[in-house]
Amino acid sequence: MAFESLSGRLQNVFSKLRGKGKVSEEDVNEAMREVRLALLEADVNFKVVKDFVSKVKEKSIGKEVMNSFTPGMVIIDIVNKELTELMGGSQAKLAKSNKPPTVIMMAGLQGAGKTTTSAKLAKLLQKGNHRPLLVAADIYRPAAIKQLQVLGEQIKAPVFSLGDQTSPVEIARQAVQHAKDNGLDYVIIDTAGRLHIDEELMEELKQIHSVVSPDEVLLVVDAMTGQDAVNVADSFNKQLALTGVVLTKLDGDSRGGAALSVKAVTGCPIKFAALGEKIDALEPFHPERMASRILGMGDMLSLIEKAQSNIDTEKAKEMERKMRNAEFTFDDFLEQMDQVKKLGPIDQILEMLPGMNKAKGMKDLKVDDKQMGRVEAIVHSMTKNEKQQPEIINHNRRKRIATGSGTSVAEVNRLIKQFDEMRKMMKQFSGMMGGGGKGAKNA
Ligand code: GDP
Repeated sequence: MAFESLSGRLQNVFSKLRGKGKVSEEDVNEAMREVRLALLEADVNFKVVKDFVSKVKEKSIGKEVMNSFTPGMVIIDIVNKELTELMGGSQAKLAKSNKPPTVIMMAGLQGAGKTTTSAKLAKLLQKGNHRPLLVAADIYRPAAIKQLQVLGEQIKAPVFSLGDQTSPVEIARQAVQHAKDNGLDYVIIDTAGRLHIDEELMEELKQIHSVVSPDEVLLVVDAMTGQDAVNVADSFNKQLALTGVVLTKLDGDSRGGAALSVKAVTGCPIKFAALGEKIDALEPFHPERMASRILGMGDMLSLIEKAQSNIDTEKAKEMERKMRNAEFTFDDFLEQMDQVKKLGPIDQILEMLPGMNKAKGMKDLKVDDKQMGRVEAIVHSMTKNEKQQPEIINHNRRKRIATGSGTSVAEVNRLIKQFDEMRKMMKQFSGMMGGGGKGAKNA
């Protein structure tokens, strides 16, 4: 889970402050010492940590905090704002050329995730009703062209390739022309990577740059490499004038050092974050939402956006009606689970809910896709009648369901109990909304 350890440590520091009615200068100093350690342990650049802590300290020792009734909360708010600032303040959006196509050049070291990210970006653009062209300009890595073609096929995006005998500069030039001729409005050039930065690589990138004059030069870096990623970004930026950074493998980065240092060290904003190998695991990077996630304050906005682009609204409305009238059955439950799964891995979704990673027992609760599979198996082992009228499921039926689903009676009991409670809650909610409920009309 991204930022797991940093998030946990910071939340510990703040939970101590939160309970206090008054905060002394010594309390603030103590908290800042811990914040400093937490950030260093998260592999955040040393100088960045120093600046960050001194800024937060300066603001926290001010009058406003000392006089507040909830000083702990005021300090968390200060940290939240500074973390947001550290990552760039507000979202850095992808450029859009007035004269299409918008040309995006992807750069990065081998293995950072450049090819995968190119395809993910194409998919994201398609969702926004754009028509991207993927360009296979990595002619050195043996399988790179094929990999891009396979990915392109998967998302139904055209892939421009001239094989591996034409120079990348020429490929890029012809690709832009091809996009113009075919009404494609974005060109994503997957350039060659190397194991290390070398002159030859930079020279080639510079040549492509001068021929296609890209609107964006995005550097793809592997977040799991921490400060190395930041150093790579710094070196590239000095030679190539990057317009943005894409952080990949954030799903495996429990520390978060790269995400927190890239902008401060290089001046280059993070534009996208990749959180998985799947083709739709790429998100625009929102500093304020990321800060809020790190502090365990949740990220409802991203969750809502994900839901809007993945969930079938007609079905959702029908579900809402059923919930309101307390007609919710196990069949509906299964369908809900399907919808939730479309949002992505369950632990990432939970992470976006406020307080979720601080909630009692949440840390030990391993809600993973495998466990959802067990729940599904239980429901699938119910008869049609049982799904529609859960109240008929007596002890014998529970035993049968447990055997049928390869689970235990205890698990079946737990699920049915949870389901009952859920229905009760829905009834209460519908009562509160006046039965006919106006619900999420203006959402
Ligand atoms: P390239 O050499 O930079 O073009 O790298 P690739 O696109 O071939 O990616 C290298 C490996 O990293 C592949 O196995 C990808 O599936 C994997 N990868 C890329 N992005 C992510 C990500 O965000 N999360 C995870 N877990 N793996 C990723």
